[in-house]
Parts: sequence; C-alpha cells; structure tokens
Amino acid sequence: SDYSDDEIIQMEELYGAHHYERLKIVVRQAKGCWITDIKGKKYLDCLAAYSAANPGHHHPAIVRALTKALHGNYASVISNVVYTDPLGLFLKKAANFAPQLGPRFGDNGNKVLPKNGGVESVETSIKMARYYGWKQKGIPDGKQEIIIFDKNFHGRMITIISFSSKLKYKQGFGPLTPGFVSVEFGNADAVEKAVNKNTCGILVEPMQGEGGMNIPVPGFLKKLREIADKHDLLLIFDEIQVGLGRTGKRFCFEHDNVVPDGLILGKALSGGLVPLSVFITNSKLMDLAFQKGSDGSTFGGYPLACVAGIAGLNVIEDDNLVESSAVQGQKLMKKIMDIAKHSPHVKEVRGRGLFIGIEVKNNNAMNFCRKLLELGVIVNDSHGHTIRISPPLNINDNEIDFLVQRLKSVLLV
Ligand code: PLP
Repeated sequence: SDYSDDEIIQMEELYGAHHYERLKIVVRQAKGCWITDIKGKKYLDCLAAYSAANPGHHHPAIVRALTKALHGNYASVISNVVYTDPLGLFLKKAANFAPQLGPRFGDNGNKVLPKNGGVESVETSIKMARYYGWKQKGIPDGKQEIIIFDKNFHGRMITIISFSSKLKYKQGFGPLTPGFVSVEFGNADAVEKAVNKNTCGILVEPMQGEGGMNIPVPGFLKKLREIADKHDLLLIFDEIQVGLGRTGKRFCFEHDNVVPDGLILGKALSGGLVPLSVFITNSKLMDLAFQKGSDGSTFGGYPLACVAGIAGLNVIEDDNLVESSAVQGQKLMKKIMDIAKHSPHVKEVRGRGLFIGIEVKNNNAMNFCRKLLELGVIVNDSHGHTIRISPPLNINDNEIDFLVQRLKSVLLV
C-alpha cells in the first residue's frame, strides 16, 4: 500500500476495536525468524505469534503445500456434508502424533476433532468432560464441575473468560458460565480438596504462558493424574502454547512423564499459516461424547487448513524442530542466566526449551520490551512482570547472539 506507518496506525485506531496494546511498528513481511516493517527495518521475532510461528514464518514446505492446493483448485472450503482427503490425512496424522491418550480407557487409538482458533478446542474439551460426567458418572446435567487453575489462560470466549483469574478479561461481560472451580497452580492438595461428587474434569496448562511463564512444581502433573484416576475425572492438558516442540519436547507433558486423557493443540499446528486447532482424545471418549449432529464448525477441518496442518506436523519431524528447541533453548538459557547474574533488573529466569521468561524486579517488563524493539527485537511481556522469549524453534546461533547482545544492552545498564 502507499500509506505511511502513521496512517496505518490511525486507520486501526479509527476503525478497529482497541482490544490490543500494540507495539508501534507496522509489519509488512515475515520470513523465518525475521519480520520487516513497511519502512524496510528488520526485527528478530522472538515472540513468534505466541508459539504459532514455531517453524519460522512462511516455512517453505507449508507454503508449497498451500500453494499447490490453491493453484490446483483443490477444495479449500467445502460443505461438511462430504469427505475430503486432506481432512482424513490430517486426522490420521494428528491422532498418531500424540501418544495414546486416556490409556485407562484402553488402547483404542486417538480421535481428533478439528476447529479454528484455540479457544474453540478448549470449549470442545469442556463439552467432552461435562458429557462424560453426565453420561458416565451420572452427574445431573447442569451440575458438572471442572477444576481449573489460578492465572490460567485458555482464550477469550464467554465460557473461557468465566473462569479467568483476571478481572479485566471478564468484568462487565456477564452473565458468566458456571461450573468451574479455581485452585492454586501447583497445589495438588487444593485440587484434591476441590473434588466433589459433581467434578468431572481437570483442565490445566502443563506450563502457564500468559500467566507469567510458570513451571509447576515437580510432580504436580503426576499428582493430577493420580487424582483424576482416583476420582474418575478427565485430565485435559491445554498445550496450545507449549506443545509441538516449544519446550524442547514434542509435548510439554513429557517433562513430567504423564499422559492426559484429552489434549488441546492449536497455534503452531499449521505452522501459523491458517487458524487450526484440535482436541484429541482416546477414541472411546470421543465416540462417547460426540455423535452425528452434536458438534460442528463451518471451517473446522476445512481442507485448506488440513493441508497446512499435515505440512505443519511434517515439518516438526522433518526439520527436527523438537531437538532444535531443546538444543538452542539450552544455549540461550545459559546465556540469559549469565546476564541475569550481573543484571540489577532481573529477579528470576524460568523456562524450558525455547520458552523462556525473564522476570524483572520493577513489574514493568513492557519497558524492556519497548527498548528491545528499538534495538530490533520483538518480544512482549507475560503477566506484566516477565519478558517472554519464544522465538521460532529453528533460531540459529547468530540469531541467538543477536538477541543476547540486545538483552545485555537493556538488562546490564
Ligand atoms: N490456551 C492457551 C494456553 C493459549 O496460550 C491460548 C492463546 O494464547 C489459547 C488457549 C487461545 O487460543 P486462541 O487465541 O487461538 O483462541
């Protein structure tokens, strides 16, 4: 376009809802780990769309797959009354990408329900847990309860914000959806105490992203598994942000050696090129909870997204992105720890793989993010106090050095 960056920003201010605080740059292009603004200035993207751009922007294999589908006039969106080969192939790939979920329900394989934005798949998982509680456990419909955690983040639709700990996310948007009990993240005793005859599930992020890059205390997820087994609850992990290699394992739950009954993935599933999310669970549970006509979405599982999904999952394997996340994450973490030792600003560094949070003392991480932006690095804050660093998983050594030099310039003064 022929517009200046100020004009573009004003257009958004004038015609858009002001629901995001944005960094003041107007981006035009994105390739690999790099973003270029409309003036031609380059930035190292160390946010990667909150994990959606895990394979780097416009990964060639995913672009090739999408281009081939579009140029070949393969069906992109089609009425969900017909079968398509991308959907079948994607479901098979996604089902087998995870280990057997809900193993206590048998070695039945997994089944997948595709949606668009991540929040939709979170809702799908809630539907399944509630249905299970009603149908299988005999909880009266309408009385089902799900345990969730303080500082959770699972998206922005009404049901999901209903159990957010952040007032800003929900105040004035009532009536809110009942049926959720919040307990302290990491406190298994509190979970045990919160269980009652109407509890049907536990929904948790194996590591909290928006909540401040929080790693649960060791053994917490294992205890959740035990509690879920003991009380016949469905244990659901939301790995929308931390799954698919982000933390140096294919799934974050592998750090704790537990397997959930249901798994939610999104963001990076399609390499970030089209919205695509899934809820995956044991076949037996999926068949129990959803029958013909009981769920659906126009774009959920539409062929074009599935083409991107197949390519996105293939890239994780073909490019060894999980290993890269572990190796590059370790290198970056070591360098950040060195900076932290000498920095007057850093309170704590937390992270796994390429999911690293630098908590600062003044509770204003955004100040540092703005300074980093001026130096050509895009990051943002998590929960106000933590600088969130989550670059594409194939960030190379030179790019890590580029980031580290700039972190030094803002954190060591
Ligand atoms: N769950 C988690 C853990 C997330 O990090 C996010 C998004 O940041 C969501 C759910 C919501 O996904 P979406 O924004 O695609 O609806």
